Amino acid sequence: MSDRWIEETFHADWRVALRASKVLHEVKTDHQHLVIFENPYWGTVLMLDGVVQLTTKDEHVYHEMMAHVPLMALDRPKKVLIVGGGDGGVLREVLKHGCVEKAVLVEIDREVIDTSLQYFPQIPQKALESDRSEVVIADGLKYVAETGELFDCIIVDSSEPIGPSAVLHSKEFFASCRRALTPGGALVTQNGLAQLFPDHLAGTTRIFASLFKRASPYICHQPCYFGGLFALNLATDDKSILGIGPKKLAKRARKRGVADLKYWTPAVHLGAFALPAELERIVDEAVAAGKSGDDRGYELPPTPDAPPTKKAAAKEPSVKEPSEKKTVTRKPVTKKPAEKPTPTAKTGP
Ligand code: SAM
Repeated sequence: MSDRWIEETFHADWRVALRASKVLHEVKTDHQHLVIFENPYWGTVLMLDGVVQLTTKDEHVYHEMMAHVPLMALDRPKKVLIVGGGDGGVLREVLKHGCVEKAVLVEIDREVIDTSLQYFPQIPQKALESDRSEVVIADGLKYVAETGELFDCIIVDSSEPIGPSAVLHSKEFFASCRRALTPGGALVTQNGLAQLFPDHLAGTTRIFASLFKRASPYICHQPCYFGGLFALNLATDDKSILGIGPKKLAKRARKRGVADLKYWTPAVHLGAFALPAELERIVDEAVAAGKSGDDRGYELPPTPDAPPTKKAAAKEPSVKEPSEKKTVTRKPVTKKPAEKPTPTAKTGP
């Protein structure tokens, strides 16, 4: 058993290390450091730029809460946009909704898609090849700013506000998302470890409150995101979608054929919006600030030393390029959206 320990380098003052019983793939892509390895407890682990993105042990928690909370809140969502999410987990959950006619996934790094299909195909399953999905390799910031399409739901399955993903936590990006939403549509983004990075929660909530009528963070517990409660944030101009009761949520799940989930239930859905007092205070303050025009976002303070990944890569004998570079995406991947933007929804609450 290899006794390489791979460290998560996300927090300035503490680290978590995972035993890599087998390193399956490690590469410096055009956008980030990517490593996939096996761990006896967590199963197959994907790490980008020194941060755990997912494990096959508990990926269902995050993916179900990212997809089913906004989609169940909406009445018959037909078109969904996923920004990031190259592992295919959120797309898998989105396509469980029979009412969804089209789901577009915009991922900046093709290597994430190809290696996900190769090393943990049980996560995307057939979602990336579905007739209802379209996979685009592009920077989400540019895609959303240029698209002429409107979506009922936009799900931002980004990494943390570092590297290529930093732009996906910005006011500019969220404002473009608002323009690409149908009236009353829902925008959801990952919002980090709430108790560890309360400024991240506050920053995104300020932006959402400055752009939308409602900014509603919710929480889940994602074991492999070390450090407590994980926050997601939902924004919409249609307050009523946040008042759907458990019976109606259960009925929607039945009608759409969404079944056998491992985390999401109508009760978990509603309970997720009940925040601990300390977080509720942060959110209330951020909403008030956002409503009064303070739309400052969040920027991750630089950690004392850059993710060792780059250094590690430098130190490590050259990162083994996968011998036979087998592109495993079967569906044609659209490189860049063609048509120019057509200004749509009216801006601002
Ligand atoms: N669940 C994870 C988390 O919360 O840490 C996120 C998982 S998902 C793998 C994040 C994806 O966002 C990665 O595949 C990354 O390549 C993609 N990504 C980062 N920046 C992006 C950008 N600007 N446009 C599109 N995709 C981006």
